[in-house]
Amino acid sequence: MGVKIDPLKCTACMACELACGYHRDDAFALLSSCIVVYRTRDKKDYFGVILKEEEDLVIARPEGLEVKRIGAVEEGGGGGDASAKPMLLREACDLCEDRDDGPLCKQICPVDAIYLD
Ligand code: SF4
Ligand code: SF4
Repeated sequence: MGVKIDPLKCTACMACELACGYHRDDAFALLSSCIVVYRTRDKKDYFGVILKEEEDLVIARPEGLEVKRIGAVEEGGGGGDASAKPMLLREACDLCEDRDDGPLCKQICPVDAIYLD
């Protein structure tokens, strides 16, 4: 089971990214977050969300939700393109195991785009 994101509900508000950084570092430290919103202006504000797990990247884009093995991303590129590279250096999602209320990102998402599956 892991965190998944419904890309058609997501509005790229970044609340999950801030929340995850806070969970990790007790501060709004975006670089500590293992869930990241990316946006490319050259593609008319196209955006997606990437989540780092121990072995996979979960990638939510308007085209749909995709789970890619980290080894495959390193060898073959893709999986979020340039945005994937800093993701690989981050800690993996721990499902907020120290919280009684479960994943903070899920709790804070204003449009219920985050779910567990
Ligand atoms: S909090 Fe929800 S709506 Fe906002 S970026 Fe994250 S998944 Fe998308
Ligand atoms: S479940 Fe916790 S550790 Fe995982 S992405 Fe959400 S806030 Fe971050």
